Amino acid sequence: MNQGNGSQRKTLLPGSVIGVLGGGQLGRMMALDGTKMGYRFITLEPTPNSPLGQIAEQIIASYDDVTAAEELASQADVITYEFENVDAGVAKLLEERSYVPQGSKLLYTTQHRLREKAAIEAAGVPVAPYRKITSLESLKEASAELGLPCVLKTATGGYDGKGQIVLRQEEQLEAAYAELSSTGAELVLEKFISFTSEISVIAARTPEGEVKSFPTAENIHVNNILHLSIVPARIPSEVQRRACQLAEQVAKGLNAVGLLAVEMFLTEDGSLYVNEVAPRPHNSGHYTMEACTTSQFEQHVRAICNLPLGDTTLLSPVVMVNVLGQHLDEVIRRTTMYDPAAESLGVVSKLHLYGKSDSKHNRKMGHVNLLCGSVEDALAWVEQTNIWRH
Ligand code: AMP
Repeated sequence: MNQGNGSQRKTLLPGSVIGVLGGGQLGRMMALDGTKMGYRFITLEPTPNSPLGQIAEQIIASYDDVTAAEELASQADVITYEFENVDAGVAKLLEERSYVPQGSKLLYTTQHRLREKAAIEAAGVPVAPYRKITSLESLKEASAELGLPCVLKTATGGYDGKGQIVLRQEEQLEAAYAELSSTGAELVLEKFISFTSEISVIAARTPEGEVKSFPTAENIHVNNILHLSIVPARIPSEVQRRACQLAEQVAKGLNAVGLLAVEMFLTEDGSLYVNEVAPRPHNSGHYTMEACTTSQFEQHVRAICNLPLGDTTLLSPVVMVNVLGQHLDEVIRRTTMYDPAAESLGVVSKLHLYGKSDSKHNRKMGHVNLLCGSVEDALAWVEQTNIWRH
């Protein structure tokens, strides 16, 4: 089935088997769209009955289990992943034994903030000024050079705001250094960007080099977790276009295949800085499921299978709201009954749940896409429901 030809370009037609490392919601939604197109899915995921395992075949084993990875490689025609912290040894093995069009180099780059920033800069795209930190001394020097406030981050392993500390005063440096250096990870200090908006663009690139991006999303975080994606972003259309161009430039510069989610800060003077990138479907691209001609999940399947990319036109203004454990019951109640408030605002809600049995505080259980005449109407609905007050 596969010849261990990691670098070869292949076109995979419907009927082919797509192996996914990771069985979470991103893999599930990829498989929901890919299955419609005629592809079959198998996942390697340690949690039984995972979101993707419920709708595909599942090999239950840990992500760094070499024998399980070999089994995945033997059963799949093409392999992708739905998270970026894939074990380096497994990534290499899969590349040797199967076809991994995204390649392990993209993972190697995006698994580490310093490598990622260097690659983005090499693509000619700005990032916040930063310094590599190797000691308390170097932290003191770098913070004097960049000027406070700054953000100290671990170069690896951080997510949803974990592994980072905002430094506002010199007195904080020692404790922050002690805390983050105790993780054993390398550290990076970034200048604090006083942004007016956080935005993201999902770009896709095929092995042939075709690149397309989805419309710019404006993202609102609460407690460092994405709460809302608003599309069209409430920023000038010229800035939206520039953000798309930058994301495409990064995707080309990194030789990405599949999706590349590019998160950016927009400042008062119109400057854009890339914060981080992710080589996979992204929470801020869930709005595409009903609001664009092609969803980000279909686009990822098309890209890794080397099909022409789908049209990314926005069909309707949309607001995506994340459903965390604490919102789940009320969201289900609200979206499964007649909702006069939604009707009078002209808001149509599309509920997506991920099939997770264990609902916990701050755990992503699903999302709602609110199709609307204007994003203000959808935002008014979110406010009126009172569901997202905590
Ligand atoms: P990250 O883990 O890099 O995505 O950071 C999480 C959040 O912290 C971002 O969404 C921003 O809200 C904030 N943040 C991270 N880096 C910076 C920075 N250099 N300047 C200002 N805010 C930042």
